[in-house]
Amino acid sequence: MAKQEDIFKNVVSHAKEYGFIFPSSEVYDGLSAVYDYAQNGVELKKNIREYWWKSMVQMNENIVGLDAAILMHPTTWKASGHVDAFNDPLIDNKDSKKRYRADVLVEDFAEKIHQKAQKEIEKAKARFGDAFNEQEFVTTNARVIEYLAKEKEIRERLGRSLGAGDLADVKALIEELEIADPETGSKNWTEVKQFNLMFGTKLGASAENAMDLYLRPETAQGIFVNFLNVQKSGRMKVPFGIAQTGKAFRNEIVARQFIFRMREFEQMEMQFFVRPGEEMKSYEYWKETRLKWHLSLGLGKENYRFHDHEKLAHYANAAADIEFNFPFGFKELEGIHSRTDFDLKAHEEYSGRKLQYFDPELNENYVPYVVETSVGLDRMFLAVFATSLKEETLEDGSTRTVLKLPAVLAPTKAAVLPLVKKDGLPEVSRKIIEDLKWDFNVAYDEKDAVGRRYRRQDALGTPFCITVDHQTLEDETVTIRHRDTMKQDRVKITELRGIIENEVSMKNWLMKM
Ligand code: ATP
Repeated sequence: MAKQEDIFKNVVSHAKEYGFIFPSSEVYDGLSAVYDYAQNGVELKKNIREYWWKSMVQMNENIVGLDAAILMHPTTWKASGHVDAFNDPLIDNKDSKKRYRADVLVEDFAEKIHQKAQKEIEKAKARFGDAFNEQEFVTTNARVIEYLAKEKEIRERLGRSLGAGDLADVKALIEELEIADPETGSKNWTEVKQFNLMFGTKLGASAENAMDLYLRPETAQGIFVNFLNVQKSGRMKVPFGIAQTGKAFRNEIVARQFIFRMREFEQMEMQFFVRPGEEMKSYEYWKETRLKWHLSLGLGKENYRFHDHEKLAHYANAAADIEFNFPFGFKELEGIHSRTDFDLKAHEEYSGRKLQYFDPELNENYVPYVVETSVGLDRMFLAVFATSLKEETLEDGSTRTVLKLPAVLAPTKAAVLPLVKKDGLPEVSRKIIEDLKWDFNVAYDEKDAVGRRYRRQDALGTPFCITVDHQTLEDETVTIRHRDTMKQDRVKITELRGIIENEVSMKNWLMKM
């Protein structure tokens, strides 16, 4: 099996070679942790966004959309707590001069211990076969018990010390665990310090009158400050939700994992407003619903897990992450947070305006509680892209690279390929494209032998190849080749739309939820 780092390297180079993702401003050697989405990447990203949007806004009568500006009044970030508390604990290695997030160093260490326990479980599973009872094994095997207890102890202590703002204890923990610089092995660490992640900018033409602004570090606050505008103009009744997708900016300390941790990224967030006291029911509902959404894409149930937070953010009374098995291990893909009435109350306080809802059934005013679902679009992209990229060995011993994207997300749904560049085959191919392009993204390719063209479309993740040959001229049939099985069927041109639609329609995929 290929090593994790090799798989990850392969993902990054495939994304570049096939026009999905380029480093930003590459002619100037790029900008650290900033990336551009290329001709195929932009389509895949748009499809993921649309898949999310439909499941939220179109499928739920009580959820509406919003597109708030990136620049907001600076008091927003005072009220939200970001000016004072949007910090990461950072630590420098004195020998390598490299900077790390102290919490991430400890979490990665805990994850390694978790993986050791997992390995023991896998070994036992292989040994005992069908007779294996995982539950029993986990609670009786001394080694597994020890690993899991150690992991829990580390995570809890980290949660406690971060929660109390005790950075000296985070440093002590790093030293006790003998955590070394992952790149150099040095254990010569500085103290742990706080670092604010917001990017500042200025509004206004003259230096004296310029106003200090921030690029938003999350999209959520645009929803909170518009809560009453949307509720009133949309005559919304609690419970209801507001959904938004858009850019967010964070001056991340450690940003070395491709599009997993970027300085400019996109979030897909939904804030659900509920009666005080009903937030836990809603929180459980959204945890389950969001996991179902992820599973509907078919990337494998085993690749997801929940991680309940030990350390809660200043605004939350419950929080969990949906973690995904990225090429570098399980990491946060989405956060589900019960944010209480913290944000709305804070905006009331700082703005002096009421942000309350009159509940006609209870005949009373209150500040609603909020349950948030927040997923990174770029992390979704990475999850989908990395998991779909496969090297396959075929029956004849040759290999192929295939990007088995969920068909609903594929940038191009079908490629039309004339077998040869003459005899009127290109013209027929163009006619098929003219007909299909109203419904699907379709591509045309006449360069190279048809086998090589199939391989190229496989690498791009195109679910169907339609080949036009001389028989097409006689009976209006073509061959349609399926990306995953490589099976080829002879079908009528008039059947193509139905066959493609059946596999790529968002409706069919969303119905799996
Ligand atoms: P992490 O702990 O990985 O830094 P977070 O807990 O700060 O993430 P949230 O503030 O909950 O993240 O943001 C919600 C979602 O936005 C995350 O689940 C993630 O998918 C995405 N996200 C956050 N930061 C980044 C980033 N720097 N680059 C890409 N996506 C991000």
